[in-house]
Amino acid sequence: MRRFLSLVFAVFAAVLTASTLCPPANAQDALPHASAADRAEALAIFKQIIEINTTDTPQGNVTTATAAMEKRFLDAGFPAEDVHLVGANPRKMNLVVRYRAEGTPDQKPVLFLCHMDVVQALRSDWSTDPFQFVVKDGYYYGRGTQDMKESDAGLVATFLRLHREGYKPKRDLILALTADEEGGHFNGASWLVKNHRDLVDAAYVINPDSGGVDLENGHPVVAAVEATEKVYSDFQITAKNRGGHSSLPRPDNAIYELTAALTKLAAYSFPFEMNAVTRTYFKNLAAQETGETAADMLAILANPPDMEAAARLSEVPDYNANFRTTCVATRLAAGDANNALPQTAQAIVNCRIFPGHSPEEIRQQLIQLFADPKLTVKYVSDAGDVFDTAPDRKAIVPPPPNPQVFEPLTRITDAIWPGVPITPVMENGASDSIYFAQAGIPCYGYSAIALERDDVRAHGKDERLPIGSYWKSLDFFYSFAKALGNE
Ligand SMILES: [Zn+2]
Repeated sequence: MRRFLSLVFAVFAAVLTASTLCPPANAQDALPHASAADRAEALAIFKQIIEINTTDTPQGNVTTATAAMEKRFLDAGFPAEDVHLVGANPRKMNLVVRYRAEGTPDQKPVLFLCHMDVVQALRSDWSTDPFQFVVKDGYYYGRGTQDMKESDAGLVATFLRLHREGYKPKRDLILALTADEEGGHFNGASWLVKNHRDLVDAAYVINPDSGGVDLENGHPVVAAVEATEKVYSDFQITAKNRGGHSSLPRPDNAIYELTAALTKLAAYSFPFEMNAVTRTYFKNLAAQETGETAADMLAILANPPDMEAAARLSEVPDYNANFRTTCVATRLAAGDANNALPQTAQAIVNCRIFPGHSPEEIRQQLIQLFADPKLTVKYVSDAGDVFDTAPDRKAIVPPPPNPQVFEPLTRITDAIWPGVPITPVMENGASDSIYFAQAGIPCYGYSAIALERDDVRAHGKDERLPIGSYWKSLDFFYSFAKALGNE
């Protein structure tokens, strides 16, 4: 996953910042910089993990990368009992490193969650070898330079540097480098929560797999922080029929029954909802909008919300996705032969569930909406297995953005990108944060990576990161980890 979460916001933010952006000289110098030796190490780590193929293919192996990082931590003197290489598959091992607080901490740890796997990349599609770390034209090229080995490397380097400097946090800091975020059957985040809650239990999670700074022509226009996310769920809708000869059609017909249900779905909107994150998001947005749109955004924040304003705003897909659970038909398969009545008609309905509701709750609502006992509505897991019922765990309704996170995040971001507006957003896609959110742990997605909005190449060809972006993120992580560790 990699952000696309703030595009609408960014358009308006650009209007605001174009006139107000006036960076004081050397603002970034207020932050402690990495030494030449720190930088050399951070670059070596970045190069090392880019050049280890961690795709979910026969050529890929996450363990090679996580074991290489394990070696770095042990060589640096992290105690062996704080460095855990664990997992359900020998090729998909996760590394969990605990940077221990001095004494007995009052507060639960902070977990930095980073996936180490990447999406497949073919040499034939790329201008460079995707598994070579290539420095060219002011960029680092390679699969994972945007998603998200830059943050994996940045956080490994940060932990090693803090340790070398003898830093003692007041609470434990944990770094988890995980497998199978991009697909595959051994998702490390989910597995760790289920099987090693003790290793990853935390007050909150920082996940650099989403959020970040959007640039337009080099100017930072918005820093988006993912403060909650929707739950991804697929449902399989099936109509069955005894079939027969197509020369003798009957009213009962699997295709008609299925399409009648889908037609109901097309016309249906799940109820309007807001939470602490989307309220802040629309409040920020309203401040930069004008006319009816600004008025509508304020009207939905009223108590009770103005439902006519909500309906007008819902015409914009990005806003609509922020207001409710959405379900949409994405696949269809039916029939056996041109001259036979269909015995099966099947659709996949993909839902993005508003935090606070469970997949099973949505499955029941779909059954109610279709109101056809002849249809079955089953749950399809991420691994593609089909179940009669769906999980009933719900992601937590997000608490108001935590000042323990937002204060240092804002201060350090502002030192690096002065004046950039910072806003919490709800992610409508999905990241590994959801497994922690479902376990009741708040998650914040922020990469501190600044990218031009038209140069997002995660999952694409010639993935690359501006050299300066890497070093700024390194400065960010160092000050941020220290600030969180000091609380
Ligand atoms: Zn990702």
